[in-house]
Amino acid sequence: MQYFDDYDLSILNSSTYNHCNDECNLVSARYPVRVSKYYAGLIRHEGDAIWKQCMPDLKELADLDQLPDPLHEGSLSPVPGLIHRYPDRAVLLVSNRCPVYCRFCMRKRLIGTGDAPMSETELQNALTYLAANPAICDVILSGGDPLMLDDQSLDRILSGLRAIRHISVIRIGTRIPVTLPARVTTELCELLKKFHPLYINTHFNHPAEITDQSSRACAMLADAGIQLGNQTVLLKGVNDDIKLMRELLSGLLAIRVRPYYLHQMDLVRGTAHFRTSVNSGLEIIRGLRGHISGLAVPHYVIDLPEGKGKVALLPDTPEREGDLLLLRTYTGELVPYRDLTTVQE
Ligand SMILES: *Cc1c(COP(=O)(O)O)cnc(C)c1O
Repeated sequence: MQYFDDYDLSILNSSTYNHCNDECNLVSARYPVRVSKYYAGLIRHEGDAIWKQCMPDLKELADLDQLPDPLHEGSLSPVPGLIHRYPDRAVLLVSNRCPVYCRFCMRKRLIGTGDAPMSETELQNALTYLAANPAICDVILSGGDPLMLDDQSLDRILSGLRAIRHISVIRIGTRIPVTLPARVTTELCELLKKFHPLYINTHFNHPAEITDQSSRACAMLADAGIQLGNQTVLLKGVNDDIKLMRELLSGLLAIRVRPYYLHQMDLVRGTAHFRTSVNSGLEIIRGLRGHISGLAVPHYVIDLPEGKGKVALLPDTPEREGDLLLLRTYTGELVPYRDLTTVQE
């Protein structure tokens, strides 16, 4: 199938980007490198925001302090390929490949390392676990990128999930609309819409990723009745800027994608050079609320180490004087707001 063969590793060695030869070889021996032709085509110059997301950097090898799996996904895995952290939700890692290996990937330890995607036996074991756990009502397909699987494999997995009565919601986490939009075909949309309620969370990080092609891919999915959310990772030197973030998030709404999460970078080995302070994340949220459509404002979350879960942060937790809250408006004004008087029981 054409869209799976669409990679352009030649860009890594082209004379335009000549710094890459040695650096690329060194890094790719440890962390795989891959860039789809389409995504490479979005690079305007060396070191730009697209470049930084996909081009290997020696800093990845220098970061040894952090853990490969700080979120303890490995120990929260009752059967291979399944992460069960919250009682009612589970993540299925159905593929370990992607059209682009993001340099800041939270699953750098697993992705593209040559292991086969989830085997038939692993899938059956995971489905058996899900079927035996009636508390699980929401299953998230992740990886790697689930849409790297062919339609037939996807159909098999989705049918397996739909055969379990207590699973009501299926979500797919995928960067395909951003990195390989041609994969979103009419056939894929016809297949996905058989499995509603099905939600997709995609992953745009920069306004330059909103193109005619990615917009069209999102429109096709939305026309199949799929609600599209977006999970952006806050990345130093890529999108840690209020104006840029406003443009990105408003732009997403305009292509029918609803911003869901803004992620603080996980403490994953090999990614330290992308991490911003939490304060700069809070400043960005402050610069969004009231300044752009409320529909476009995501939750800013930190996924806590050791699998303790995601925690949402807001810039101005209210100051209090008795039952008076002092609330700050988007223009900076402090407004008193009287709370109900709390009655001691
Ligand atoms: C993020 C995550 C989920 C889903 O969390 P939501 O807040 O419901 O989107 C589920 N399981 C794991 C392991 C996760 O990291």
